[in-house]
Amino acid sequence: MKVFYCHNCHHQVFFNNTYCENCNTLLGYQVTKKTMGTFEAIEPLKWRSLNPKDQNALFKPCYNYSQNQVCNWMIPFDDEHIYCESCRLTHTIPDLSEPQNILYWQRLEQAKRRFLYLTQQLNIFPRPKKNDDDRYGLRFNFLMPQPNDPVMTGHQLGTITLNASEADVVHREKTRLDMQENYRTVLGHFRHESGHYYFDILAHLYPEWLKEFRFYFGDERQDYGHALEEYYQHGPALNWQDHYISRYACAHPWEDWAETWAHYLHMMDTLDTAYHTGMCIEANHRIDPDMHFKESPIGSLDFEHTLTNWFALSYALNGLNRSMGLQDAYPFTLSNGVLDKLRFIHRTLMKTALKPETRHSDESEST
Ligand SMILES: [Zn+2]
Ligand SMILES: [Zn+2]
Ligand SMILES: [Zn+2]
Repeated sequence: MKVFYCHNCHHQVFFNNTYCENCNTLLGYQVTKKTMGTFEAIEPLKWRSLNPKDQNALFKPCYNYSQNQVCNWMIPFDDEHIYCESCRLTHTIPDLSEPQNILYWQRLEQAKRRFLYLTQQLNIFPRPKKNDDDRYGLRFNFLMPQPNDPVMTGHQLGTITLNASEADVVHREKTRLDMQENYRTVLGHFRHESGHYYFDILAHLYPEWLKEFRFYFGDERQDYGHALEEYYQHGPALNWQDHYISRYACAHPWEDWAETWAHYLHMMDTLDTAYHTGMCIEANHRIDPDMHFKESPIGSLDFEHTLTNWFALSYALNGLNRSMGLQDAYPFTLSNGVLDKLRFIHRTLMKTALKPETRHSDESEST
């Protein structure tokens, strides 16, 4: 992610901030400009941009910003919508009369915005699903499980359902241990489930792509329910690390794709942040990789250079975490089989198969 600055005092500000911690000026994310903006409130819902380039342009905070404090995105003042481009993707939220649910909703929306920021950079920002038959739109349901009504996190036909208790850190960590996972985060859920969503679009639009997909990930036409049953009964193959990024990726080609897709997004976001913060790594030993950027890794044609950078950064990240007594930030190993799958995902995005204009021919899109 880019580094953002307050237009009033020039201190660094962060993507989730609602005001500058140095000068208290109001902040909000300007979707069309992909940047954090600084604002002066003329009226409660009429804010003037303090960015000199905006020439006093007026904005309004998203309804979930002004009313619920679960969002910090801005909308041009004369736009007909009261919800921002992120909140318009949320279809169902947990019952807010339960006091903890507002906090869970906040955490879910925060992770969703981070996920969406990267889709903006990759030029694959989803648009809200118009109806159940709408193939290319997306909607999110954040549901709290009830005693006789469990919630399965998953994707179906452009609807991503997330068990909102994943925003409870104790629940999430317990589930992670039960499932023998190395990594489980709310952001990771968004990235994984989005993999299923984008897969459906790619498979529908590009039959040739699907053939190539099968070469790397296997035949997704095998029975999904049966494959999952087998996986939960017998676990992954013994040598799963040679071919898969995670244990769960072994369950079915769809899950392998979603796990690897999520992984690609983790890599891209982390490397992009390293790039924008000006990091570089000069290894002290000649066989260790260096990290130098020629350009942002997002959209870079030199994916092999991106991978070398990633090796250097992930070793350093894990070492730093261990120095702080924390778990590895990056608890994965990249086998050659997995690297080939990541290259395939990068090629898929480079071929611009998912560019909004391909899918959004029925509406003009500003992002
Ligand atoms: Zn400031
Ligand atoms: Zn919003
Ligand atoms: Zn999945």
